Amino acid sequence: MGKKIIVAGGGHGGIACGAILAKKGYDVTVYEKNKRKNMGYDWTDIFDRKAFTAIGMDVPGEELWSLKNDMTFFGPGMTTRLRQDTPDDQLELQMERKVIYDCIIKYAEDCGVKFEYNNAVEKPVMLGNRVVGIKTEKGEEFADLVIDACGINSPLRKQLPEYLGIQHDAQEYERFYVWRGFYEKIDCGEVEDKFKVLLFHKGKLGISWVAAEEEYTDILIGRFNKLDEQEVEKTLAALREENPHLGEKLVRGGEFVEIPVRQPLAVLVADGYAAIGDSAFMTVPIIGSGIANSMKAAKILADAILDDKTNSYSAATLWKYQREFCSKIGNGLAPLAAVKLLLTRLEPYELDYIFEKGILNADDMTIGADSTSLGAMVKDMLEPEPLKAKITGLAGNPAVLKKVLRMGKDVAAITAVTAAMPREYEVNRVRSWAEKYNACFKR
Ligand SMILES: Cc1cc2nc3c(=O)[nH]c(=O)nc-3n(C[C@H](O)[C@H](O)[C@H](O)COP(=O)(O)OP(=O)(O)OC[C@H]3O[C@@H](n4cnc5c(N)ncnc54)[C@H](O)[C@@H]3O)c2cc1C
Repeated sequence: MGKKIIVAGGGHGGIACGAILAKKGYDVTVYEKNKRKNMGYDWTDIFDRKAFTAIGMDVPGEELWSLKNDMTFFGPGMTTRLRQDTPDDQLELQMERKVIYDCIIKYAEDCGVKFEYNNAVEKPVMLGNRVVGIKTEKGEEFADLVIDACGINSPLRKQLPEYLGIQHDAQEYERFYVWRGFYEKIDCGEVEDKFKVLLFHKGKLGISWVAAEEEYTDILIGRFNKLDEQEVEKTLAALREENPHLGEKLVRGGEFVEIPVRQPLAVLVADGYAAIGDSAFMTVPIIGSGIANSMKAAKILADAILDDKTNSYSAATLWKYQREFCSKIGNGLAPLAAVKLLLTRLEPYELDYIFEKGILNADDMTIGADSTSLGAMVKDMLEPEPLKAKITGLAGNPAVLKKVLRMGKDVAAITAVTAAMPREYEVNRVRSWAEKYNACFKR
């Protein structure tokens, strides 16, 4: 039997990485707090199909997914309407979360991964500064490597020694508080904008979406501060006034959840430890999609583990994962966190101004499966000509201009700091670099 790997929490990336390793003879066990039947939310997700192929799976059969509808974005004053036009080869899959889990878990089991459900992970077990196992509610388990796939509130990440330089938690404006539910759909003819995304709806710092599906209307309400039932009801009432197809009866979902909307964790590894998925904040900061990134990261992590000829799974050997993840995915996500920060600094009427002046247009909002447009938009910001064009458009509004220029400066700083990531792992150098990285995202 190969080396022993613990996957703490049944996050997508952890299971996917475990599958690749188990196939190669590693002894992999996933410890998940939920019962199998309770894993995954009762709603659909949209993501890049390469999530599957990245880890060697076939894309599930067409009967299990549909293609996502283009979104139509509305500014706070509802004066602008920007409709995406996603190229066919960039369209994402829309799939039930529970079906995604069925597919990945079946694949992992076929590869030899073992699952222990109904067993919550409580904290890491340390030997000096090395993670040597986990304490679960049922006892201690030891392994050569612990992969942290417990999600945004990982108890492992939160309890690692400070010395390792791994940030324990997301800060203010780095988590999105979300309520999501599916309502009965009232038949009132063809709905023009099938997937409406309302930015700063009714002046609130956040979004609401109203997506008309065949059998239900999908509602998501998200804020940067905590939501309660009352706020959800108030928002639903406002949405019903503008969307007659939104019925009164909740048919599925209806849960409060949190999504990381921030830059990836500065340091992903320690001796005997690697974080992946939401535990490592791998979502796209503006849109909160994290499934594909976590599964692409799974392949990168598995390759680093398989390449570790010393079998030490030390921070130094796992650093290959850190560097590869950042160069292929993370360094593209981090500047988007600066765009998100800009949004949190804007007043609703300022966002309207940006849309009305065409500074952000439908092309910018056409976020394809690889977040291509957003990424290109941020890249453009560092090029003199496109940047000049955007800035000229803002000349009439110095307050907005100042905020946008600050974002440009943030993006430049993030680009410089991510490029200066240490080539090798040495704890003091890594900690000092991580401090510089984290400092780029102060609101
Ligand atoms: C409302 C909503 C909508 C979303 N929509 C999309 C979308 O359309 N597309 C997309 O790509 N992403 C979407 N996301 C984000 C997506 O859910 C995550 O980014 C993605 O699942 C990767 O996270 P993860 O699998 O690492 O963590 P999670 O999905 O959080 O999984 C963590 C797992 O660990 C388990 N766990 C947690 N704590 C413990 C513990 N102490 N002990 C044992 N087990 C534990 C949990 O039960 C869970 O099974 C959405 C998220 C939300 C909340």
